[in-house]
Amino acid sequence: MTIIPYSRQDISEDDIAAVADVLRSDFLTTGPEVPKFEQAIASYVAAQHAVAVASATAGLHLACIALGVGRGTSVWTSTNSFAASANCARYCGAAVTFLDIDPATGNLCIDALEAKLNAGGKRPTALIAVHYSGRPLDMPRIAALAKLYNFRVIEDAAHALGAAYTDGTKVGSGHHSDATVFSFHPVKPITTGEGGIVTTQDPTVAERIALLRSHGITRDDAQMEDTYRLSPQDDGAWYYQMQLLGYHYRMTDIQAALGRSQLKRLDAFIQQRQQIVQRYHSALADHTAITCAPWQEGCGWHLFPILLPNTQMRKHVFETLRSKDIAVNVHYIPIHHLPYYQRLGHTGGSCPHAEDWYARTLSLPVHTKLTDADQQRVIDTLLHAVQHAQKAAA
Ligand SMILES: *Cc1c(COP(=O)(O)O)cnc(C)c1O
Repeated sequence: MTIIPYSRQDISEDDIAAVADVLRSDFLTTGPEVPKFEQAIASYVAAQHAVAVASATAGLHLACIALGVGRGTSVWTSTNSFAASANCARYCGAAVTFLDIDPATGNLCIDALEAKLNAGGKRPTALIAVHYSGRPLDMPRIAALAKLYNFRVIEDAAHALGAAYTDGTKVGSGHHSDATVFSFHPVKPITTGEGGIVTTQDPTVAERIALLRSHGITRDDAQMEDTYRLSPQDDGAWYYQMQLLGYHYRMTDIQAALGRSQLKRLDAFIQQRQQIVQRYHSALADHTAITCAPWQEGCGWHLFPILLPNTQMRKHVFETLRSKDIAVNVHYIPIHHLPYYQRLGHTGGSCPHAEDWYARTLSLPVHTKLTDADQQRVIDTLLHAVQHAQKAAA
């Protein structure tokens, strides 16, 4: 029996041909393919600007810098996420405050956000709003809070390319935030091997990120700082200026060509994921021991998390499925539980819903290579394991 992963890439012959074409061309790193991919993503999500970067982590880092996150500032984010959602703030020297989740969905709890903002104390410079599992947050409500309390919003949409807000517009359109960051890691909705992209409506933010991704260096005459230009009359086409302390966070043409080819199938991928979730829902709805992540129109379903009654049963079910080559996983260990953040003084018990979620959750396989037969095997094995655990506990 082959291993069924919780998620994986879906590579077609067209994808392979697109990459091979780049390998035969003049540019391997940033050449004509990167701007083409940026345009394709911008037009897909209906944003004015898209800037491709080496990873979503790099994109989150640069978005933080571009929006004024730095030493002495504070960034708030959901603790039920991958560490990168918080690390980007730490790279800039900012303090992180973790927010609790909605116990039904695992997503950031906007009531908790609002209560914390109302309580006074130090306001955030930026909120990293994570669309956990590909489930879009209520962004108009977050945008209203951002306006009232004067903070910037970065959407961590690593899970959510192709997902839609309740008004039907695509995640990343940028009307309710300052920047949106997507990931192209192989488990994510589409892949470039490694890679990420930042979309925004704000030309200043886009320009800043584009500069920072390539050492802070510009060759654009229109951008030159004359104050520090020593001999403009003698400078030629070789001349460039390093204006900011930037990074090497560029995407390659090899990656961009793969991404542009993958993007053509994104809507079909999302539809397949939604169908898989509907099948899970109908197979598992009657089982009182299993709580499924609720249906939401437009959800991208990067993950399909379920909750079990207690942590002992979660462990038993996890081990049983793993022993049958079904590579279920757990999303996430609350970020504030990780030793690095514990050492910074974040304590357990501060986000009870996220801690309870972590104790009982399991992510079932959901990806486009999951066949009906594979999914049936996941369902049968899961139900069997739950039944066994219930008998053992009785
Ligand atoms: C995967 C992921 C990231 C980081 O993506 P990379 O492209 O691997 O850097 C950030 N945030 C979340 C929520 C993720 O799942």
